[in-house]
Amino acid sequence: MSAIALDEVPGCPPRVRAAFTTRTGGESSGHHASLNLGSTCGDDPAHVRANRLALADAVGFDGDRAATLTQVHGATVVAVGPLGGGGTFVGSLDGHAAADGMVTSAPGVALLVQGADCVPIVGWSADASTVMGVHAGWRGLMAGVVEAGAAALGTPGGIAIGACIGPCCYPVDGDLREAMAIRFGNRAVCGQSVDLRWAARAALVAAGIPSPRIVDVGGCTSCDADRYFSHRRDAGVTGRQAGLIWIEEER
Ligand SMILES: [Zn+2]
Repeated sequence: MSAIALDEVPGCPPRVRAAFTTRTGGESSGHHASLNLGSTCGDDPAHVRANRLALADAVGFDGDRAATLTQVHGATVVAVGPLGGGGTFVGSLDGHAAADGMVTSAPGVALLVQGADCVPIVGWSADASTVMGVHAGWRGLMAGVVEAGAAALGTPGGIAIGACIGPCCYPVDGDLREAMAIRFGNRAVCGQSVDLRWAARAALVAAGIPSPRIVDVGGCTSCDADRYFSHRRDAGVTGRQAGLIWIEEER
């Protein structure tokens, strides 16, 4: 088995750890090969659990206190307390809060947002006391999940946008292109496609986060089949990578 490969997040303050996973380094096979972290995409639950535990071990957070969501393409952002809450990483694969963003100020609680084309976003507050994770596809972007996440974070320190489907691979119908252009500006549309990463950046800037504080970390999930799962490319039969962020506990 290959080692877990991550897209690193540059510029995190001391005590804040963040990264985006790739598909490399897990136990799942077939369409889910190999580091699938999603529990609702048809993979063997034992493999998902093993992958999540291996990730926790590899990057150094407590799998029992990591929070995931039942992502529903809405704009709800939930606050996660010191015990994780919303369902834990290891003990329960289902029954998590139905939402698309999380914030926490609890050291040791890792936030994990999943995707397979949608935009994963992580961020930290200026004083590094709060961290945020958001999952934003076109529905979530239009619903305002990015702005909700930015508001919940408070005064921003930095934001990282992980790999998502690029405009190279994301043609959509004309109505959606028009709606995205109205909402996020003409740069959110490229020919027959929309640019989710640009739309997410525009939403963050509109929410008061200076553009220089926003870093793009990853590439196109659809173009890079060796590195990423892609819902569009794989016709819905695929795994999930994740954005993760947490505040380290004092030692
Ligand atoms: Zn592409």
